[in-house]
Amino acid sequence: MNKKEIQKKYHHKIKLINKYNDHYYDKSKPIVNDQIYDNLKIEILQLENDYDFLKSEKSPSKVVGHKPSKNFKKSIHKVPMLSLGNAFSEEDLNNFEKKIKNFLSIKENFKIYYSAEPKIDGISASLTYIGGKFCKGLSRGDGKEGEDITENLATISDIPKVISSKDFPKEIDIRGEVFIQNSDFKSISEKFANPRNAASGSLRQKNPNETKKIPLKFIAYTFGYEKGLIVENQSNFIKKLSEWGFKTNPLNKLISGVKNLVKNYNEIEKKRTNLDFDIDGIVYKVNDFAMQRRLGNVANAPRWAIAHKFSSNKAVSKILDIEIQIGRTGALTPVAKIQPINIGGVIVSNATLHNEDEINRKDIRIGDTAVIERAGDVIPHILSVDKKKRSKDSKKFILPKNCPSCGSETIKEFNKVTKKVDAVRRCSSEGYYCEKISIEKLKHFVSKEAFNIDGFGKKIVENFWKLELIKFPQDIFNLNYSKIEKLDGWGKLSVQNLKYSIDQKKTISLERFIYSLGIRHIGLENAKLLSKHFVSFSEFKNLSKQAVYEDMLNIDGIGETQVTSIKSFFSNAANIKVLNELEKVLFIKDTIRNLDDGLLNNKTFLVTGKLNGISRAEIKSLIEEHSGKIISSVSKKLNFLIVGEKPTKRKVDYAKQLKIKVIDQIEFLEMLNKTS
Ligand code: NAD
Repeated sequence: MNKKEIQKKYHHKIKLINKYNDHYYDKSKPIVNDQIYDNLKIEILQLENDYDFLKSEKSPSKVVGHKPSKNFKKSIHKVPMLSLGNAFSEEDLNNFEKKIKNFLSIKENFKIYYSAEPKIDGISASLTYIGGKFCKGLSRGDGKEGEDITENLATISDIPKVISSKDFPKEIDIRGEVFIQNSDFKSISEKFANPRNAASGSLRQKNPNETKKIPLKFIAYTFGYEKGLIVENQSNFIKKLSEWGFKTNPLNKLISGVKNLVKNYNEIEKKRTNLDFDIDGIVYKVNDFAMQRRLGNVANAPRWAIAHKFSSNKAVSKILDIEIQIGRTGALTPVAKIQPINIGGVIVSNATLHNEDEINRKDIRIGDTAVIERAGDVIPHILSVDKKKRSKDSKKFILPKNCPSCGSETIKEFNKVTKKVDAVRRCSSEGYYCEKISIEKLKHFVSKEAFNIDGFGKKIVENFWKLELIKFPQDIFNLNYSKIEKLDGWGKLSVQNLKYSIDQKKTISLERFIYSLGIRHIGLENAKLLSKHFVSFSEFKNLSKQAVYEDMLNIDGIGETQVTSIKSFFSNAANIKVLNELEKVLFIKDTIRNLDDGLLNNKTFLVTGKLNGISRAEIKSLIEEHSGKIISSVSKKLNFLIVGEKPTKRKVDYAKQLKIKVIDQIEFLEMLNKTS
């Protein structure tokens, strides 16, 4: 990469992090989790470290928080409120201590004492007391200037309004964290992603009466401007705070030596789930104020303090229960219900245990203390359990031998191809016998890649099932609309819309139809192969009459596993009944064999963004039906980029640069004469 490219990359990252900051600090609604945010910050700092010429006033190495919101009056902090440097490992802590000793030119064996304070994940506030009276309260803002939230802060009962202690300074800014306890967060958890956002959102309400409704707490830990403070170190200052009537953190400790800091960190990380407030690390502050003064600050953080962050994708919590979920194909998936825990800004209360083999291999039991990992968008899962912490009477978890939903035997199949017993245990029932399987099949039937019925989501399937409005796929096309209209949350218009969406989908391609049946091992690709092979619904349905299964083995891509599954589907009377009933209400289009002289012959397409009423699978099959081709990236080989809602900007820009035709959905349909 040349200098220009590096600068471009750097400024792009700066722009991105400032966008994240805006959503997090100003709107109290983060758009990425802390892990993504922290990684981006590390990348920026690394780039600045590698290339001297990279500089930006908006860099996370320079700025603190975010500029104050326009909704509040602004006020200057007499002493700036800074951010903290981060440490993620023991090595980072050793470096931190080494730098301090070098800076102060003290011997290596000199013992530095640190005040180790759990870092509450809330928002910081500065409270100005003059003559013992609370007279002004500010948020951190951008560190130099904060939002005047005095009235909102005054609603918090932990904040003393008058302090009459003799040794309380004449004037002082007391600083600390405003937060919400996890137990209080439960009642408002629908509105906010996590307690930190809840505290920030509630504290920065325009109307203090709204703030008052939320039980916010305050813990004090430092000071800003002061006149008349006579204390020589942080641990004594914390004692004073308590004497003056402030709440302080009971887990604060005075510690020396990196090894001991790490020991304390590990102990607190294990206790984390049992605390009633979220912490995202431990802050270490050089205890001695004289040393702190000598060390001073870098651009946006003190040299004498650091935040030792907990891993933002792992956490320790307790397994409260193990539940069994039953999928569309009968697979029994054990799911651990865990004591809710904040992992990287997201509250996690479920973790998948995958299958029986995984439970056995890791010997996961109810009541265990477990390490849970949540990486990216993957469902959280259990990494390991602490067997030492297990109670003596804990029992091995055994998956049920009978399906918890229908009582049928559960089995682990032998896979003829791999010559191994499956890791997954399944309900052995067939067709629509098992209630849980049926519900999952219906969800699949209406899903995006299948019938794609607008407004008919998973929740509606569950609801209609409970109300006995649907039991089989065909019931969706024979709904009792007058009954639905009388249900809570429904009305004439919404029922009309639902009816319209359902009627619209009565015409369907054979390929999608086969996929929507949810036959095990028949995904989108296999459904396509089968539809090409059978061409018409009647040929496909004929499988129920004549055993021509072996023919299917000649289809490139279809193997014994798929054939066995199709055989078992057609040997079940309930499935045949479903096919017959669906045939009565649907128009299932024959498969058009790809002719090389279709309208889109020799043309290549790529879709970016969300299309209106057409799924990716549908547009792909439309293109292929007309002899066109979908390709996977923007390149010179691409002829048309179809752009929907919220497209990937990079793709659009690159396509324009390559002079590729960028079209929208309507223009595409016009190419097929399909808009009318
Ligand atoms: P920071 O890491 O710079 O730490 C400073 C803050 O720690 C203080 O302002 C104070 O609020 C808090 N704190 C708690 N206990 C303390 C104690 N005993 N002593 C001193 N300070 C204490 O915090 P920051 O700059 O507000 O934000 C960084 C954090 O916020 C990161 O963890 C980051 O992941 C997260 N963040 C996330 C997003 C996102 O989009 N997900 C965006 C911005 C920031």
